[in-house]
Amino acid sequence: MGVILLEGGDAKSAIDALEKEYKSAKYYLNFSTPIDLLVAAIISAQTRDETVNSVTPELFKKFKTAKDYANSNANELVKYIGKVSFAGNKAKNIIATCKAIEEKYGGKVPNKMDELTELPGIGRKTANTILINAYGIVNGIPVDTWVIKLSYRIGLSLNKDPDKIEQDLMRIVDKKHWKNFAYVLKTHGKKICQSQIPICSKCILNKVCPRNGVTKSL
Ligand code: SF4
Repeated sequence: MGVILLEGGDAKSAIDALEKEYKSAKYYLNFSTPIDLLVAAIISAQTRDETVNSVTPELFKKFKTAKDYANSNANELVKYIGKVSFAGNKAKNIIATCKAIEEKYGGKVPNKMDELTELPGIGRKTANTILINAYGIVNGIPVDTWVIKLSYRIGLSLNKDPDKIEQDLMRIVDKKHWKNFAYVLKTHGKKICQSQIPICSKCILNKVCPRNGVTKSL
């Protein structure tokens, strides 16, 4: 099947069906404070959620503020996050980001998109994640690998660039769904629209989905 973009009624009905099916979908990393969330988000790159959630309880017990991280060093942090991929680089990023937060914002994680994205290692996806989940501020849709993959498969966006995908989604997803749409797509991806072989026969979208890029399905 060629590459097709779902438009108008089909896109809206697909989004509504997903929102109805996964209305309890929510952010998947555990945290209590904005700094916890920022650190968990940095750790989560190319790492399973379960692995992140398995290392953060001890980490968050030891490090509670941006200053705690800023005053630490990479070797100390790696003792806590050694199980995650690229632990050494992530430790350095956490320390650099927390130093900037400490110096520029008095230790408080900023709640503005431009201030967040100026921090080292924080892109628009993580900034949206922090704004939505730590502050309840919804300015956009976090675009992670699941959102990239499923938006293309379902035909909601044919772009590859995350910023362009976000713009496409913001045009067609009702604003009231922006805060959880990434988590709805991720839940659908893990349960049904799996990376290697999607289970199209059991999918609520199988009447409208163009299955862009899918070569095998069950
Ligand atoms: S499981 Fe199949 S029909 Fe459903 S969204 Fe994925 S590719 Fe489309």
